[in-house]
Amino acid sequence: MIVKTFPLGLIGTNAYLLIDEESKEAVLIDLGGDYHAIKDELEKNNASLKYILNTHGHFDHILGERDAQEAFNVPVYVHEDDKFLVQNLPKQLERFGFVENALPPENLKTFSEKDTFKIGDKEIKVLHTPGHTPGSVCFLVGKLLFSGDTLFYTSVGRTDFEGGSFAQLSNSIKEKLFKLDDDIDVYPGHDSKTNIGYEKKYNCYFGSNNI
Ligand SMILES: [Zn+2]
Ligand SMILES: [Zn+2]
Repeated sequence: MIVKTFPLGLIGTNAYLLIDEESKEAVLIDLGGDYHAIKDELEKNNASLKYILNTHGHFDHILGERDAQEAFNVPVYVHEDDKFLVQNLPKQLERFGFVENALPPENLKTFSEKDTFKIGDKEIKVLHTPGHTPGSVCFLVGKLLFSGDTLFYTSVGRTDFEGGSFAQLSNSIKEKLFKLDDDIDVYPGHDSKTNIGYEKKYNCYFGSNNI
């Protein structure tokens, strides 16, 4: 599996492009900005994009998706509990003080934790991890976890935005993510990579060395 990181958009949010070398299928996780670098990477690998999955509905993770959807002709998915956020994209931008004229993706499709996606013959599992937003999820592909704004390198996502809950976030981290194997690599929505074992110890909010 090839994983490419593209920090894009208004605040440099990580978009992740996954390419399965055998089937040449690709999946994009979050897209906060211009899709052209992703198009180049797909062409370089002779791969075709299957769909766009979202870790949650915040503007900085979805801003480039309407254009990408037209360019690649692919469906866009978000957890059912974050559909309202995607549909409120213009309102979100206004609230965060950005004067950007953007449309949300069209024909938005929703999923729940019961659903799984595929890239080639590999499974993409959905872990519902509410707290940062009600419909925040992490995607688990083998030993790779795409954590959105739920878990960061030594940190966690904010819970003071609309629909956020620290109690839920705490539960998501402790009962779901920290139950995963230590050697799982974590690819967050912002900043650098980490892994589960490291965060179990050193996370500033939930690490065993800090409690
Ligand atoms: Zn967010
Ligand atoms: Zn974000």
